[in-house]
Amino acid sequence: MTTQIKVIRGMHDILPDNMDVWYQLEDTWRRLVEGYGYRHIRTPIVEKTSLFHRSIGEVTDIVEKEMYSFADRNGDSLSLRPEGTASVVRAGIEHGLLVNQQQRLWYGGAMFRHERPQKGRYRQFHQLGAEAFGMPGPDIEAELMLMAARFWKLLGLEDIELQVNTLGSAHSRTHYKGVLVAYLLDHKDQLDEDSQRRLDSNPLRILDSKNPDMQGLIEAAPKLSDHLDQESSEHFAALLEILDHNQLAYSVNPRLVRGLDYYSHTVFEWVTESLGAQGTVCAGGRYDMLVEQLGGKPTSAAGFALGLERLVSMLQDQDKVAAAPGNQIYFVMAGADSAKVGHQLAEQIRDAIPNIRLQAHCGGGSFKSQMKKADKSGADLALILGENEINKSTVNIKYLRQQRDQIEVEQSQLVDKIKQLQDES
Ligand code: ATP
Ligand code: MG
Repeated sequence: MTTQIKVIRGMHDILPDNMDVWYQLEDTWRRLVEGYGYRHIRTPIVEKTSLFHRSIGEVTDIVEKEMYSFADRNGDSLSLRPEGTASVVRAGIEHGLLVNQQQRLWYGGAMFRHERPQKGRYRQFHQLGAEAFGMPGPDIEAELMLMAARFWKLLGLEDIELQVNTLGSAHSRTHYKGVLVAYLLDHKDQLDEDSQRRLDSNPLRILDSKNPDMQGLIEAAPKLSDHLDQESSEHFAALLEILDHNQLAYSVNPRLVRGLDYYSHTVFEWVTESLGAQGTVCAGGRYDMLVEQLGGKPTSAAGFALGLERLVSMLQDQDKVAAAPGNQIYFVMAGADSAKVGHQLAEQIRDAIPNIRLQAHCGGGSFKSQMKKADKSGADLALILGENEINKSTVNIKYLRQQRDQIEVEQSQLVDKIKQLQDES
């Protein structure tokens, strides 16, 4: 026997029975963000590896150990995208979407990271994200947070909390880095291997360490908020004022750093207690340096991405999955010539009632077995076209969920009859 090929570890098939919740997320998101003026952009799943090295940074978890990189047949190094922002910025520069203008863009799709698979952490996962360009102030940051809050509300999700922090301007961060490194050097024996390495390359990222043994050290570290320049403090205060005025609850988490070099000023995460260890469902911030870093003109930018698998779990756990509408009609066709006439009638119905959800039976089989399938399909009505009906040029309409008499109609009257039944229900 040939061995069976299975799906790749950490990647998942999303099966039809589980699709309602995905549609719910994607449809709700699209209505939401388009209502805020965001326009959809789709970029390739594969990009040059250098794009992610230059944007995400050489010393991040993603670039150091999580990327799916490979040489293509020309020898170019390509990577499956681990996130969406770099590609959106690359495309925005390439197509002139970012110069001298404001731009609100959204994207979605599969992302790839070679992480250790566990609940809420996969090697292929899906994100939806929003990016806003050309708006330097806290107003757009607040709007991004209000938009995310509205998303949770539309989905009916509870128990998601907003955490915010500021990294300050590039200038104030450079100053703080010096203070932090001095502190960490004083406690070098307590640093784990990753942190030792990051001491030179990306000391801020050490604050983001998940290693339990390092938490005491991190807790006691000098705080960035005590080393902000005036412009940075004012920017952050203005953001919090907008949030307060809009009664959007948040907590300031001084340890939120999001490690990437291109972030400045505001960073934020939406976190839940209800998912266990992988509790961040949405993360974002301001990244004013990135467009220039990737070869564009200096352009202010802010955005966020959310992880769909974690939201799927939350919707399921909180019993908030909205069922998509099912079949309305199952067309039973039994006997000689029934397919010819049956498909003709089915197409007439689809022409006349464009949104109808009509499943026509294919594959033959007895009348009885077809009726079983009709029942299983979830449809309310069965249309029955057997030899009797063919001979009389009629169709029988049978109620599958109600105790009501079957109705026999002329084939020429079928469309009108179905419209009439729809109006009644
Ligand atoms: P974490 O600290 O959990 O690794 P991150 O900082 O790497 O998260 P981002 O790059 O900010 O995550 O991605 C935004 C969101 O995408 C995360 O908040 C999370 O909801 C989701 N996400 C990130 N990585 C994964 C993954 N491997 N599997 C499932 N969802 C993920
Ligand atoms: Mg990660």
